[in-house]
Order: sequence, then structure tokens, then C-alpha cells
Amino acid sequence: MALSRNIEIIREKINIAATKANRNPNDIKLLAVTKTRSIETIEEALSNNIEFIGENKVQEAEDKIPHLKEKFKEFHFIGHLQSNKINKLMKLKPTLIHSIDKYSTANKLNNYLIQNSLTQDVLIEVNTSGEESKFGITPDETLSFIKSINKLENVKVKGLMTVGIFTSNEKLVRDCFINLRKLFIEIKAAEIPNVEMKYLSMGMTNDFEIAIEEGANIIRIGTAIFGARNY
Ligand SMILES: *Cc1c(COP(=O)(O)O)cnc(C)c1O
Repeated sequence: MALSRNIEIIREKINIAATKANRNPNDIKLLAVTKTRSIETIEEALSNNIEFIGENKVQEAEDKIPHLKEKFKEFHFIGHLQSNKINKLMKLKPTLIHSIDKYSTANKLNNYLIQNSLTQDVLIEVNTSGEESKFGITPDETLSFIKSINKLENVKVKGLMTVGIFTSNEKLVRDCFINLRKLFIEIKAAEIPNVEMKYLSMGMTNDFEIAIEEGANIIRIGTAIFGARNY
């Protein structure tokens, strides 16, 4: 598996997509999605210029993140967060949790943070595709949801995340990302206290170039770096 070459190719594609959109490629964070990958494989990626890694299951992250010998800059949690896993996740010190979509979970997270004198940066996951299988709140609910979360003072909302629709129809995929960007701008304009619209986390292996053209500044890539996943 030529990991280093895969990573180079992705960086080239990021450059091309950013240039096309008149953006600085350095503004786009490449988050390597390491779910299902072994510690050894993750370490190989880290020694090839990967600095940011993402996991989607707390248990799996617990089994790997503390044992990595290669240094990483940031660990992000990108999966659905169950409230009974909050304590375990927080011990791993995620830089960013991408996937808050329930008030009750955010509230429990806030209680943990207050008890431990911590704060936590999070993104709000929005279901832009309308697919029932996907997590996230609806675009219509997002502004009021964020207004409710902003009362949880130790939870710091830093932006929005979405998983684009699963289809080969490029226009439908692009519409998901355009809609998330519109929401991002709308929420920014609302100037909600304790809420900063800084990150737009969108784009995966099959659609990251479109996401970059539409404003993504975090892309989450697994397959294109590591190959197909064996569950
Ligand atoms: C698995 C996963 C990714 C990466 O998907 P690839 O298609 O392998 O790049 C990105 N985001 C989330 C939330 C994921 O669960």
C-alpha cells in the first residue's frame, strides 16, 4: 500500500480544487479518517505528513489514540456521540467533536466540562441530504438549535459539519455543500454569543473537491488515503 503516494495525490487534488476556487490550499485541513485502520498503518500516515486524525467510535479511539507513538497534532471525533461515552471520549482530549446533533448530549457534555473546568470545541452536524440513514439536524432547525446550545457555556460551537448525499449525481452533492455554506453564513451573521463560525467540515473521498470549491476548510478522508475498508 503506497500511503505516501496516496497522500501526495490528495494534496495535489486539494491544491487544484482550491486554486480553481481562488482559495489558499493552506486554509484546508486534511483530516485522515483512521477508523478500522491499525495502529501501525496510522503511524505510517503520521510519518508521511498527516497531522490530523479522525475516529468515529469511542471504543476504537480508546484502543488506538493513546498508543500511537508517532506524534499527531490533533485528534478529532467525527462519529455519532452517545451520551454514555462522553467521559471516555473526553479522556482522549479531542481537539474537535464534529458531530453534535442533540441537545441532551450537548448538555451532558457541558456538565462534564463544568465539573472538570474544561471547554470543548464542537461542530453541529447538519443533515443536508435529507437521507433518513444520516445523523444530523435538519437545516431548518439549525439556527434555533445553535441558539439553544449557546447557553451551554463550556461547549464552544465552532462551525458546521455534514456528510454529503451518497450519489454519483454531482449537482445533488454540490447542493448539500452549498446549503451548508449558506447556513454557515446565516449563522455567522446572527452573531450569537459564544458561537463562532470558523469551520466547515464537509467532503470525503468521493466528493472532497466539490466540497473545497464550495468552501470546506476541513475535509475528512479515509479511503483515498488508506484504501477500501474491511469491516
Ligand atoms: C468514514 C467517514 C469519513 C471518510 O470516508 P471516506 O469515504 O473513506 O473518505 C468521513 N466522515 C465521516 C463522518 C466518516 O464516518
